[in-house]
Amino acid sequence: MRPPLLDPFFAALTTLPGVGPKLDRLFGRLLGRPEGARMLDLLFHLPSGHVDRRARPKLRDVVPGTVVTVAVTIDRHRPPPPGRARLPYQVHASDETGDIVLTFFNARADYLKTLLPVGETRYVSGTANLYDGTLQIVHPDRVVDEQGLATLPLIEPVYPLTEGLGANAVRKALDAALMRIPALDEWQDEAWRARSSFPSFADSLRTLHRPPQPDDLRADRPAWRRLAYDELLASQVALVLVRAHRRRQPGRGRTGDGRLRERIVAALPYSLTRSQHGALDAIVADLAKPERMLRLLQGDVGSGKTVVALLAAAAAIEAGQQATLMAPTEILARQHLHTIAPLAERAGITVAILTGRERGRERDELLRRLADGAIDLLVGTHALFQDEVAFKDLALAIVDEQHRFGVHQRLALAQKGPAVDMLVMTATPIPRTLVLSFFGDMDISELREKPAGRQPVDTRTVPLARLDEIVEAVGRALDEGRRVYWVCPLVEETETSDMAAAEARFAELKARFGTRVGLVHGRMRGAEKDAAMEDFAAGRTGLLVATIVIEVGVDVPEATVMVIEHAERFGLAQLHQLRGRIGRGSGRSTCLLLYRRPLGETAKARLAIMRETEDGFRIAEEDLRLRGEGDVLGTRQSGLPGFRIARIADHGDMLAAARDDATLLLSRDPALTSPRGQALRCLLYLFERDAAIRLIGAG
Ligand code: ADP
Ligand code: MG
Repeated sequence: MRPPLLDPFFAALTTLPGVGPKLDRLFGRLLGRPEGARMLDLLFHLPSGHVDRRARPKLRDVVPGTVVTVAVTIDRHRPPPPGRARLPYQVHASDETGDIVLTFFNARADYLKTLLPVGETRYVSGTANLYDGTLQIVHPDRVVDEQGLATLPLIEPVYPLTEGLGANAVRKALDAALMRIPALDEWQDEAWRARSSFPSFADSLRTLHRPPQPDDLRADRPAWRRLAYDELLASQVALVLVRAHRRRQPGRGRTGDGRLRERIVAALPYSLTRSQHGALDAIVADLAKPERMLRLLQGDVGSGKTVVALLAAAAAIEAGQQATLMAPTEILARQHLHTIAPLAERAGITVAILTGRERGRERDELLRRLADGAIDLLVGTHALFQDEVAFKDLALAIVDEQHRFGVHQRLALAQKGPAVDMLVMTATPIPRTLVLSFFGDMDISELREKPAGRQPVDTRTVPLARLDEIVEAVGRALDEGRRVYWVCPLVEETETSDMAAAEARFAELKARFGTRVGLVHGRMRGAEKDAAMEDFAAGRTGLLVATIVIEVGVDVPEATVMVIEHAERFGLAQLHQLRGRIGRGSGRSTCLLLYRRPLGETAKARLAIMRETEDGFRIAEEDLRLRGEGDVLGTRQSGLPGFRIARIADHGDMLAAARDDATLLLSRDPALTSPRGQALRCLLYLFERDAAIRLIGAG
């Protein structure tokens, strides 16, 4: 139960004076809670900047173009002449050093007369300008009297707004909300708090919304850092609780005798790399432990994750249980089956595939064989989640290209067996800082070396204007028997327009090269896609025009040329993924990045990095630097997904401390019963990580 002390944070905004249903709806939109924003959402809506109104010059000294607050006497009002309402309403004012005109468009005369009474002194704040040699302020931001001046925020925060909701409404609501923050016990370690000069939680909020100095608003100053650390700590405490819960769940030690793995390894035309061995050893050791495994296998494209997955599955199957391998697309699932089936057969492992395409009797039969244990390894897509998919004894679930699946889907798979071990694989090398914050509860294995015999890819950038030459070069490559991918641009983020671009290019290239050209895009039916991929893999076509569908995982080692049209429109991670489709076999590979001029700075930097390196980890880091962390995982947020205050660039340095802090405090106080533990429960509620509290002591 949430401590009643926290109720004010969760109160509806309509409890604030002046916030009715209409404003409530606007706040809901602004704060991303259409179902009704709460005080908490408003308080965590931090300013994006500030206006500094501290300059208080005499009129003679006003610098045009700057924000000033001037003390003036109101001299006279000059409404627009009758019938000329489009002209401005002007109020003339002065001090002992000069004159100023306050200009209002579409003004209400009676309102201005009370706001600026002739003969009185008023404090006027706004951006001053020179117009026809006269100093003026158009639509002053603030007009106050002596009394108002005392409460005028001289450093005024600026908030992100939404249409229909003005700065004043947000400021007023915050004024009231700040008054209602209850006093809370400190949940931070006192020594750490002192060392970091953190204000209290409440003071941090007050400082950010009412900054005494402009610098106080900066993300790297104590107030923001304090709140960011609170958020990081909340997420790490939650992760540790989840992990402890998982550990308490009965797992099963699974120890295979190695016989299937031996046969698979013997059937491989190559030997495993050191890092493949290392990853496999870690997985096998995890499987043997009585706790549940949750391991992330990171490896650049082409680093050979599939065979590691197969060997992991074999280890589970040796122990008499079942395994499943899930891929994000149908093409990939089939490709996995294609790679795995011959090796599995040599080892005596029964493999089957389940996607949206298996239907009717065939599907029923497959599900029956799965339920009675005749199938050892089931490869598939999202179709694996369906309720009717029941295993006899699922021991290991492997999820390929993890970032395309959500955590709840991962959990859905885990529910398909009594104590499922989980291996997730990703080809997007995620910087460690991010792994920690998103998957803090995972162990990590990395495949850092490339398999032996890989050729570096020769990457060049070519302006689109030279398309004709490129087509010539592609023709020569085809004549030499090389296989070429031609990747079409993302026109808009819709499949339809991608498809149109790809089809148009396909038609042109086909007119030129005839039946040697194939086409694959996301809108094709499954069987057509397979056929196009198979034709290309078998060499019946030599040139495959494709959309981004080939981005992930497709493996045709004979392909040695890739043309990417409008490379400037792709993200760095995407380009890297795409290029990873070539350079897989022994032949020398070339990647041509076609771009349209003029190139923006970021696009230029991206293409330069692509020319410079093939190291996926370095590319991921550059990507992070160029675009911000949100995009690395394919989300387009400026902050960390799931985080409201913390930002990797400004606060990532505190992540490790938060993790250690969480681990230590929970080892001392696993049920959060000490005074600090009680305070931490409040923290978890405030950052909405409280679901983890329910795991304390459960199961
Ligand atoms: P990814 O990590 O991108 O999924 P894959 O598993 O598809 O990589 O492997 C890419 C290619 O490398 C495949 O053709 C695979 O057979 C080959 N391969 C995997 N491991 C090795 C190795 N140790 N030595 C040589 N080739 C390998
Ligand atoms: Mg793969």
